[in-house]
Amino acid sequence: MQKFTLHTHTIGFDGKNTVLEMVSSARAAGFDTLGVSNHFIVHPKIKESRMYPYAVRGGYSAIYSDSFDEVMDKFRAHYTELRQLQSESNIRILCGAEVDFFPTRAWRDGFLHAVDELSPDYLIGSAHFVYYDGNLCNVHDIANVDADVRDEILGIYWDNVAAAATSGLFNFMAHIDLPKKVGIGRTDKWCAAENRALDAIADSGTAMEINTGLYRPEIYEPYPSARILHAAAARNIPVLLSDDAHAANQIGRHFDDARQFAHDCGVNNFITLQNLLDFPRKSR
Ligand SMILES: [Zn+2]
Ligand SMILES: [Zn+2]
Repeated sequence: MQKFTLHTHTIGFDGKNTVLEMVSSARAAGFDTLGVSNHFIVHPKIKESRMYPYAVRGGYSAIYSDSFDEVMDKFRAHYTELRQLQSESNIRILCGAEVDFFPTRAWRDGFLHAVDELSPDYLIGSAHFVYYDGNLCNVHDIANVDADVRDEILGIYWDNVAAAATSGLFNFMAHIDLPKKVGIGRTDKWCAAENRALDAIADSGTAMEINTGLYRPEIYEPYPSARILHAAAARNIPVLLSDDAHAANQIGRHFDDARQFAHDCGVNNFITLQNLLDFPRKSR
């Protein structure tokens, strides 16, 4: 059984509970390691995006920064708290981040500088946004445009996932078929794009999560889909289970079902925590 959970969110970002509450829940669920991976989302236009006013009203706009200075202020204080709690805790606490990857030179330079200063224990690569035609679109925005534009943006989404893996900046990739959340990208015509992303993940030696945050009565499966997980197993991509907990009572959710799902898809390569942390992330 996997004794660690590395994809979690806390108060001050878009989680509902404090780090201490997450720690006690993780301990109660039998985990010996809790990684905290709040959102690290930096883009100069993020506050002009369509979803930003919703985030302000919803009280979670702190996860969005329009400069690296801004995000570093938040993470410096956050990691100081995590490291303080680590020294007092009987469970291992790791400093992580769920990072939105953007395929530009300026982003990479700013990001590497931030990583150098913050020294996280691990980083999760993700793509919640696609920059298209001057706008930052999230998956809901992608669902709300005409079909041809939607396909174009979805194609860019998969290119970004591939580029994020190829960058070598991340220990593992998050919910790689995120657009499934709004019901898009499920048809077979997306197999080629998925397979290109999986090739990039396999070639770079990056691991990939099975994210149980999507398990709901009406769509009882994790990210990624069975189709993708079969293809990942064929490439022997290392996987781990993630709960993407935004609240203490979500820690370890549906791990048994996800493990079964993985086995049914032919997955044998479950990565150890040590191998995950030892991944030689690119630092230049
Ligand atoms: Zn996410
Ligand atoms: Zn998350």
